[in-house]
Amino acid sequence: MLPSLAVVDEPAFDEHRPPSEHPERPERLVAARRAVAALAGKANVERVPARPATDDELARIHTPAYIDLLGQSAGRWSYFDADTYLAPASAAAARLAAGGAIELVNTLLAGTVERGVALLRPPGHHARPSGAMGFCLLNNVALAAAHARARGAERVLIVDFDVHHGNGTQEAFYADPSVTFVSLHQFPFYPGTGDVREQGSGEGRGFTVNVPLSAGADDETYAAAFSRIVAPIASELAPNLVLVSAGFDAHRSDPLAEMRLSAWGYGTLVSMLASAVRAGTPIGMVLEGGYDLDALEASLEALLGAEPPPPPGSLREGTRHGLELDRALDAARRFWHL
Ligand SMILES: [Zn+2]
Repeated sequence: MLPSLAVVDEPAFDEHRPPSEHPERPERLVAARRAVAALAGKANVERVPARPATDDELARIHTPAYIDLLGQSAGRWSYFDADTYLAPASAAAARLAAGGAIELVNTLLAGTVERGVALLRPPGHHARPSGAMGFCLLNNVALAAAHARARGAERVLIVDFDVHHGNGTQEAFYADPSVTFVSLHQFPFYPGTGDVREQGSGEGRGFTVNVPLSAGADDETYAAAFSRIVAPIASELAPNLVLVSAGFDAHRSDPLAEMRLSAWGYGTLVSMLASAVRAGTPIGMVLEGGYDLDALEASLEALLGAEPPPPPGSLREGTRHGLELDRALDAARRFWHL
């Protein structure tokens, strides 16, 4: 029997359009849709309809003042910052994307489908509780995690492998021990956060784990990060739900960043994550940045349990990336059995 994949995708996500040339544009979803279509014959694709997130759902993460401001932007062109545009239909698209992430969680927690992907625009992980940032309007993955918590999931794990640090998601759960946030990202790089010393505050100490890597990290570096840090944390945490902030901009062909992951590498990371958690743990991928449709396709195949690829070569000790991983490992060891 074919494995099932829950998919959120709505034509209205395309109505979030830039006023001029911009990397965050509707063509990104065209590529993502091709990756899902390529699964034909390998999976039962189950469409999950999105719906606009309610004010109460948004208020789990975002401030009332920001929710109001976003609502006022409907129907006209504007900018939140130099990067973050709003088309007349962007606020509605953002609410629908957030509601799509929430409905993906509803489907996964219902237990009939264990794997899912939400092909969302606008993306979300830079959106802060108090405002839009870095192409992102509402923090889809954070809203999804908060919804899972509201439904009674005790431990939620968010793994963010977008090449940029998920500053908005980190901020949303910085003092919250019930949502563990693990991010791998190019550093130093936009948005400037994500140092290993950012580990959470108060009750949330230890539940934020940052793995900053300098430019040029490849499949072997990322695989080492997963085998030494991400997979052991996922295994120790035993989450009720895993959400992936799935950005494909760490791919070697990405025009904006400088990492060297291959499509095969992405598939390996997803396989390692899926095999680190207990059998039956639902996993949902939420699209963030990046274009590479081969990387998305490889990730979806890995998510569906395709034969895990052979282990990549091991990272040499003492290299620049090896030392960076040692530093992240030392920081995380204060809180986890690594
Ligand atoms: Zn990104």
